[in-house]
Amino acid sequence: MAFELPKLPYDFAALEPHIDARTMEIHHGKHHAAYTTNLNNAIAGTELEGKSIEEILKNISKAPMAVRNNGGGFWNHNLFWEIMSPNGGAEPAGVLLESINRDFGSYAVFREKFTAAATSRFGSGWAWLCVHSGGKLEICSTPNQDNPLMDVDTRGCGANPILGLDVWEHAYYLNYQNRRPDYVNAFYNIINWAEVTKRFELSK
Ligand code: MN
Repeated sequence: MAFELPKLPYDFAALEPHIDARTMEIHHGKHHAAYTTNLNNAIAGTELEGKSIEEILKNISKAPMAVRNNGGGFWNHNLFWEIMSPNGGAEPAGVLLESINRDFGSYAVFREKFTAAATSRFGSGWAWLCVHSGGKLEICSTPNQDNPLMDVDTRGCGANPILGLDVWEHAYYLNYQNRRPDYVNAFYNIINWAEVTKRFELSK
């Protein structure tokens, strides 16, 4: 079974004004679609064909760069669409908030550190909130389409990502141009904390 581009769980315009419809349309329909197609092409006829994406990422150091770039791009965007919602933006609650308070001190400090990870990433990449087995939360950042699931030395904290923010220019340039910090701040208005909490409980 080839990997498939997932449907967006909302309309292209649903995240406006924080992320504009045209950016969503191109980001999902062109960028994510290309990562998906190129991943399928890169693994076709190899021993990686038929493996889960997580299994591929876990052993990515042995795979060709095309699999690393496109496999990361495929997985990262799958997460990204799911952890945003037009109904998002409230602060986290319950067990996730308790863990944020325990590991960062407060939601405000978490936000400050996550913002710093996203804005200080030079060039293209991602900021992550991850959970280690046992439940400890950690913020990290990775370049390009790498992510913490990969067995490479750019994998950040190496734990399980439950929240990710794409800071490639293709994610914000049409609306925000060079103002990445404005895009990062807008992201907090659309985080789907219910989904992040679900992933936290499954991963911890
Ligand atoms: Mn992207």
